[in-house]
Amino acid sequence: MPGLATGEHRAGLALSEPGAGSDVASIQTTAVKDGEEYVVNGNKLFITNGREGNVFFLLAKTDTAIDPKHRGISGFIAEKAPGFTAGKDLNKLGYRGVDTTELIFDDYRVGADNLVGGEEGKGFYQVMDALETGRVNIAARAVGVAQAAFDDALAYSLQRETFGELISERQAIQFMLAEMATKIQAARLLTYDAASKKDSGDRFDLEAGMAKLYASEICAEVTLDAMRVHGGVGYIKDLPLERYYRDAPLMIIGEGTNEMQKLIIARSLLKRAKARG
Ligand SMILES: Cc1cc2nc3c(=O)[nH]c(=O)nc-3n(C[C@H](O)[C@H](O)[C@H](O)COP(=O)(O)OP(=O)(O)OC[C@H]3O[C@@H](n4cnc5c(N)ncnc54)[C@H](O)[C@@H]3O)c2cc1C
Repeated sequence: MPGLATGEHRAGLALSEPGAGSDVASIQTTAVKDGEEYVVNGNKLFITNGREGNVFFLLAKTDTAIDPKHRGISGFIAEKAPGFTAGKDLNKLGYRGVDTTELIFDDYRVGADNLVGGEEGKGFYQVMDALETGRVNIAARAVGVAQAAFDDALAYSLQRETFGELISERQAIQFMLAEMATKIQAARLLTYDAASKKDSGDRFDLEAGMAKLYASEICAEVTLDAMRVHGGVGYIKDLPLERYYRDAPLMIIGEGTNEMQKLIIARSLLKRAKARG
C-alpha cells in the first residue's frame, strides 16, 4: 500500500478478456495450483495501466468444473514477472493519458500467498464489491467532465456575438445552458447520495448504479451540447472540449455498462420491495 501511495507501484484491474466483459463469470484464464504456487495461463483485454503498471488484481479460474461458474473464480495480486507481459496498446477514442492493453499470461507463476483472502472461489465477490465503489468514482468523474464542458460553454456564450448580440442573450442558448446545469446538479446529488450511502456501511448497489448510469449519460449529452454552443470552433482540437466529448463514452461503458446498471438497479428495487413485503 505505501508503494501504491507514493507511485512506486502502479496498479491495474485485470478482469476483462476477449470473450468476457459484462459476463465476468465466463473468463477463461486459469490458475492451477502447483505446490506453493499457481501457474496462470490466459489473455486479458482492455487492461488500463497494462503497459506502465507493475501490479494487478488478477481474476482467474481456480476451478473450471464448479457450477455456478463464478464460484470457481479467484483473485490474485499479480506482479509483473517472467510469463506475465503486456501485449498490444489499444488505440482508444479517449482517455489517451493512460494506456490500455492486452495482458498475456504464459505459465506465469504467482505465489499461493498472493491469493486474495487466502481462499479460492472468492474472486468474483471481491471484484463485484470493488466495482460498486468504482461506480461512484465513475459518476464523480462524469460530473467533473460535464462541469468542465459546461463552464467552457457558459464562458464562450458570454463572449461570442452573432447578429450584433451575445449568444448568451438568445433563448435557444439559454435553454441549453439551463438544461445542462440542471442535469449536472442532479448527477452531482446522485453521486453524493451514493457516496454517503457507501460511507454509512449499508448496501449501496442501487445508489451507485443510479449515479453511474445517470451521470455518465448526461456527461455525453452535456459535452455534445457544449460543442453546439461553441459552433464550429467546438469541433476543432485546439480546445479541451473535443477531449471531454471523446472521454465521455468510456464512462457509459466502463465499470459495468449502463445496460448492466439498469439490470442492477431493477434487481435491487425488486429485492428491496420484496423484503418490505
Ligand atoms: C478504455 C477502456 C478501459 C478499460 N479498462 C479496463 C480495466 O482496466 N480492467 C478491466 O478488467 N476491464 C477494462 N475495460 C473493459 C470494460 O470493463 C468492458 O469493455 C465492459 O465491461 C463491457 O464488456 P465488453 O466490452 O465485453 O462488452 P459486452 O459485455 O460484450 O457487451 C456488449 C453490449 O451488450 C450489452 N450487454 C451485455 N450483456 C447484457 C445483458 N445481460 N443484458 C443487456 N445488455 C447486455 C452491453 O451493455 C453492451 O452494450 C476497459 C474498457 C475500455 C473501453
